[in-house]
Amino acid sequence: VALPGERRHASKHRFFVVDLSQALFDFVIQLLPTAEEMAVKEDVRKLLERLIRTIEPDSRLLSFGSTANGFSLRNSDMDLCCLIDSDERLSASDLVTMLGDLLERETKFHVKPLPHARIPIVKLSLDPSPGLPLGIACDIGFENRLALENTRLLMCYAMIDPTRVRTLVLFLKVWSKRRKINSPYQGTLSSYGYVLLVIYFLVHVKNPPVLPNLQQMPPLRPISQEDTHMGGYNTWFFDDVELLCQRWHSSNTESVAELLIDFFRYYSRDFPYNTGVASIRSGLLKKENKGWQNDLTNGRYNDARERNRFCIEDPFETDFNVARCVTKEGLYRIRGEFMRAARVLAVRPRAIVALSQLCEE
Ligand code: ATP
Ligand code: MG
Repeated sequence: VALPGERRHASKHRFFVVDLSQALFDFVIQLLPTAEEMAVKEDVRKLLERLIRTIEPDSRLLSFGSTANGFSLRNSDMDLCCLIDSDERLSASDLVTMLGDLLERETKFHVKPLPHARIPIVKLSLDPSPGLPLGIACDIGFENRLALENTRLLMCYAMIDPTRVRTLVLFLKVWSKRRKINSPYQGTLSSYGYVLLVIYFLVHVKNPPVLPNLQQMPPLRPISQEDTHMGGYNTWFFDDVELLCQRWHSSNTESVAELLIDFFRYYSRDFPYNTGVASIRSGLLKKENKGWQNDLTNGRYNDARERNRFCIEDPFETDFNVARCVTKEGLYRIRGEFMRAARVLAVRPRAIVALSQLCEE
């Protein structure tokens, strides 16, 4: 039998959690892109596609990243990928150079072609206008089919439990941007990395899980190697979400707020940063088994260590560490922010106060 003190404690906690969940919904809703912004972005995509077709008639320009997976915030950048459906095509770096010249001549975009980057892209930006008060930033890459697939995978995860998954992801994106820990160029983690951390947590850490593992579910019918592999990587996942939602129900009934509190607790206290790899495909792996440890016998000791401080396995490119840009200093700051957030929530302030403290710039 609970003592009166404990009962008061439990009911106070329940009240806090209900309140915080509601505040989280309200908070993210006002940060979603407007219908107008989405329409302008779609117009930009069509315009760019028309221009690219003057160079490569058999090309298509597709959205990926947040504009396509349902995790978009107001003024998110646009990630576009050009696919060319013909055998004789220019190399990505030639295309980047040619497209850069064309867009410079024909449009009002500021254009920056990067033909020699690891993945050649054209970077575009547009100054603010009435329809887009903050302008637009856009990257165009070529033949990045794996990125289209990982976008579709994240979208399927979002569709299984739209309220909890989208609220958590959108909140963490805003939080990480406001706390300045969402910048791979400055040694912290990309939005994509944070989304993978959320999915990993919901599939592999929560018990019972909030989400099933789409990459490990049995296919409905036999499929050939050809249909499941892309550039040597297995890209198969269960993508019939409608059917899945008829057959699979999570028995986890925690609210968004409870999940968020536990997310911060897990990543500030329990995730084994030194030895572990978060893999949404396979659960918790060991750096050692992936050759991602700090290899003392290797002459490239410093290099390997710098790249593998924090390890998040890409869902398809399993030899690729999505967090490889995170530096020692960056990881220290990220973990510090997880701890700070856990501390803010532990004292259960009023929900609005909690959110404004969490996202303080
Ligand atoms: P934002 O709204 O902040 O732009 P986003 O959801 O578009 O967030 P990004 O980090 O811009 O996320 O990533 C967009 C896409 O680019 C991802 O879906 C992924 O395909 C690819 N990507 C980004 N970062 C990486 C990375 N470190 N490794 C592999 N792919 C990445
Ligand atoms: Mg993006």
